[in-house]
Amino acid sequence: MVGSIVYGWRGSGAITGIFKACGVMQSMDNGPIEQYSRAFAELKRASGKGGAKAPHKPVLLLTILAEIEFGRLDQNRIELTEELISAFHLMWQALVTDTQWVPQIVMPFIRLASEGFWHLRQGNTELERTELIQNEKSVVRTQRAIEYARFDPQLWQLMMNHLNRKILKQVLVDTYFVERRDALEAVSNVVPVDSQIERLIELAATPFRRSVKPLEKSEDDMVYLRNRLFPKVIKNIYRAECAVCGITVNDSRSNYVVLDAAHIMDYSVFHNDDPRNGIALCKNHHAGFDSGCFSISAEYRLIVNAKARVPVEYAKQGTPIRMPEVHTCAPAQDALAWHRNHKLR
Ligand SMILES: [Zn+2]
Repeated sequence: MVGSIVYGWRGSGAITGIFKACGVMQSMDNGPIEQYSRAFAELKRASGKGGAKAPHKPVLLLTILAEIEFGRLDQNRIELTEELISAFHLMWQALVTDTQWVPQIVMPFIRLASEGFWHLRQGNTELERTELIQNEKSVVRTQRAIEYARFDPQLWQLMMNHLNRKILKQVLVDTYFVERRDALEAVSNVVPVDSQIERLIELAATPFRRSVKPLEKSEDDMVYLRNRLFPKVIKNIYRAECAVCGITVNDSRSNYVVLDAAHIMDYSVFHNDDPRNGIALCKNHHAGFDSGCFSISAEYRLIVNAKARVPVEYAKQGTPIRMPEVHTCAPAQDALAWHRNHKLR
């Protein structure tokens, strides 16, 4: 008996079909999940060119459902972490083919608050809509303004159940991305952070930029991810070995305890987290590199600072460094030249 609920989306047949497909008999007990199914199917979305509607909100909701499904999210406290942003971008790549939309997580993260089931919090206070900047796009600025988001407790409880997640996912896919269903299944085995590390490595094939904006001023999610994932990207491409001495020390939890991801051009000046501005160094060699005990030539060989007393066991003039396994991620010549000019003094 669902006669008391009037469905405004594609007739009541749509939800009946989804419930049937998910193996659920319709009954009075299904009231709350039906209500939220309807809310998920009627998301308010911005209009774009050619009558298209913004995909951000359904992409974020599908992302969160997947993160719960794979055990990466188990608290009704949704924060803008690099894990969530990576997962959002993976979902976006799978579902959104219309290039007029820019994948920015902040937009749905803030605007979902207008749907009634998503609440933005700072400490114990719920933020009023008037306090929110509707056009904010920077991850860092949003993190400062909003500590976390949470769902209605009743909706969160429902989402803890696999069958309910299946229903809500089906509603979102059928309503917004029905032709991309197969693509969604294809990414279900991918770990989002790993896929974004791969993507950042691929992006290193584009021209090297000497400078980028400070993180808080950037409105590009990938700049934020590049910053947060920089250590993982660098350790990954250098096989977790120091580029000078090759040492690798892995504790039992796969933490490379003596290895750093060093910036070649100072981060505080250039804000450049391009993998080609990075090099994996052990803590000893990181300290010596930053203070100019040695640098690296255009041929990727060590140049020992003639003014420093450097033992040969630490750095030997002319020794080739260990190169990253992805050749497009080799240290940029611009970055090495900057290091030689500014540190070898
Ligand atoms: Zn070393």
